[in-house]
Amino acid sequence: MLELKHVNSFYGNIQALYDVNLHIDRGEIITLIGANGAGKSTTLMTVCGVVQAREGQVLYQDEEITRESPNHIVHKGICQVPEGRLIFPELTVQENLDMGAFMRTNKAEIKRDIEYCFDLFPILAQRRRQQGGTLSGGEQQMLAIGRALMARPALLLLDEPSMGLAPLVVKQIFEIIKKVNSENNTTIFLVEQNANLALKIGHRGYVMENGRVVLSDTCDKLLVNEQVKRAYLGL
Ligand code: ATP
Repeated sequence: MLELKHVNSFYGNIQALYDVNLHIDRGEIITLIGANGAGKSTTLMTVCGVVQAREGQVLYQDEEITRESPNHIVHKGICQVPEGRLIFPELTVQENLDMGAFMRTNKAEIKRDIEYCFDLFPILAQRRRQQGGTLSGGEQQMLAIGRALMARPALLLLDEPSMGLAPLVVKQIFEIIKKVNSENNTTIFLVEQNANLALKIGHRGYVMENGRVVLSDTCDKLLVNEQVKRAYLGL
């Protein structure tokens, strides 16, 4: 479904990604782990066109999207939940969800999907008329995911959904990510510092260090890999 081939990405003269190769098959949850500054967010941003790869190729459904604008990439079905959530703080929960459906026209389907989001996150249903900015961190993360789902993405990019959240909320959010993947066959590319949880819900995983992919395997194998255990699982 998605393939990165020999991707080099830069911020000005600073190179952030070095010869990154990875692929994601339809229906998978792919986990990307790595330390601060390893290049995880840059990888996601290179997929969604916010950062353009200077060299190499990004292919989506066998079509090259390396130089496409973020706007075109969203229209192709790739949607990102950025780090830090970035919901619309002044808009209500319901309005934030409506904004996620901005590319769609079928009102009945939009209504059905809003109800689906409320089933996934019942707390959002209770707070549907509350301004987004007044929600707790966990609720804002739920809203950010819900809003992305309203675009009915084929590929959902999640950048550190656990960041700054209490363990119980993180667990809840990860269970919902898994549910969205299994119920809708939404393919998920999950970037996480919480390697333990992320490797538990992923099918396959990649490990990045200093802008390079240094390891890739099934998540089951990565969880017992000595290098991963030492560097990322604190074992
Ligand atoms: P984190 O978990 O801290 O978000 P990360 O693995 O997502 O880390 P990136 O944010 O992709 O890492 O950063 C990769 C490298 O690119 C780092 O060296 C970082 O300093 C650099 N970088 C990121 N954003 C910019 C920017 N806007 N301008 C210049 N350099 C940047």
